[in-house]
Amino acid sequence: MSGKVLILGGGFGGWVAANEIRNGLPEDYQVTVVDRNDSSCLGLSLLWLMTGDRDPDRISRSFSSLGRKGISFVRGDIDGIDPRRREVVVGGKTFSCDYLVVALGAELAPETIPGLQEAGHNFYTLSGADALRHALADFSGGRLVVMTTGPGYKCPAAPYEAAMLLEDFCRNHNLRDKTRIDLYAAEPGPMGVAGPAVSRAVRQMIESKGIAYHPEHQAVEADPTGRRLRFSNGVEADYDLLCYVPPHRAPGAVRESPLIAESGWVEVDRDTLATKFERVYALGDVVSIPLKLGKPLPKAGTFASSEARVVARNVVRDITGRGEAAAFDGRGECYVETGDGLTAYGEGKFYEDPVPNVVLHPPAPKWHDSKIRYEKEWLEGGIRSDEDFRRTG
Ligand SMILES: Cc1cc2nc3c(=O)[nH]c(=O)nc-3n(C[C@H](O)[C@H](O)[C@H](O)COP(=O)(O)OP(=O)(O)OC[C@H]3O[C@@H](n4cnc5c(N)ncnc54)[C@H](O)[C@@H]3O)c2cc1C
Repeated sequence: MSGKVLILGGGFGGWVAANEIRNGLPEDYQVTVVDRNDSSCLGLSLLWLMTGDRDPDRISRSFSSLGRKGISFVRGDIDGIDPRRREVVVGGKTFSCDYLVVALGAELAPETIPGLQEAGHNFYTLSGADALRHALADFSGGRLVVMTTGPGYKCPAAPYEAAMLLEDFCRNHNLRDKTRIDLYAAEPGPMGVAGPAVSRAVRQMIESKGIAYHPEHQAVEADPTGRRLRFSNGVEADYDLLCYVPPHRAPGAVRESPLIAESGWVEVDRDTLATKFERVYALGDVVSIPLKLGKPLPKAGTFASSEARVVARNVVRDITGRGEAAAFDGRGECYVETGDGLTAYGEGKFYEDPVPNVVLHPPAPKWHDSKIRYEKEWLEGGIRSDEDFRRTG
């Protein structure tokens, strides 16, 4: 039995898919990951990098360890994807395969808002969070603004956590009485897909820390010289330090391929993550899965890795005839760090009708410890499911 599985993207979802598929297939079946980087960094650690609690070179895992597990790694930019022929062009070279898994994540596009890139710090990238760490070290107080620039971005909790961690930072550095903190959000409320009770609870968490919350403010322009932001509703705001979540879109290679759908993302069967192309799957941030309440499933690592497990089981079953068919159940989990060493923890069944069923456990040290253990295991290359992780710690 021989053949090839090609996995595009070695991030959250691609890593799990590659490992699980490799574990389930005979040796002469080739499993290859393609990524433009030689390592992948953990999103949740970027918030700790930003506050100076992590070093930039300690929050990534290298793709070099894939080789030891019998997974080939090709480093390069994916220039083209032909899902009909299951062919991919990487740096001018064409790769074909029997099974294609697209896990290319979301592309960040700060340049689509004039002035934004020069005006502030994009804490959604390693370099941006690191630059913010240096800017914070020099910050002597003033107006600190956290901003989202579109209603859909990965990890709906992250900008709210960022605001609370920055508030914590200011308190611990004797800057709080000299600093006003504002959170301008493009969306109508925090974590809307989790339902009104969770949204209210998170809003209450940030407001109880004296962070001024301004929902439904869509930034249209930033003036880096005058340190001023302009929103589509005509409001303008000044800032001294700006920390922003950039607009997201599907990666260029996907946007230019037949995989792209009207939503601007890849459409898949919500149970199997199969695209409309034979033996082509897509998972994680690059897909959009509509939910009954009219919002898509959030983009988060918890979903990317669960989806990857489902894809892996079905690909292995298709090839070997072994194992049970798997279906993604829409479950996900999330940490909401609130400062002072505390973290809230949410668990949700997002496929439940008519609205997702999400429970948010109040902030506690035990969830914070759990987040730290999660980071450690992820950096070591772990691929346990969230459920297994929670059960055994
Ligand atoms: C600040 C922050 C905090 C977060 N906190 C959490 C959290 O607490 N919990 C949670 O569940 N999620 C969290 N996330 C979200 C999580 O990181 C993402 O949802 C997750 O990484 C998505 O996985 P993915 O596999 O779809 O994409 P990614 O992990 O982004 O992987 C995509 C890969 O594709 C590669 N790639 C893209 N285009 C190309 C190309 N053309 N050629 C070659 N390679 C390419 C990239 O280099 C990348 O390695 C957070 C994210 C951020 C930024």
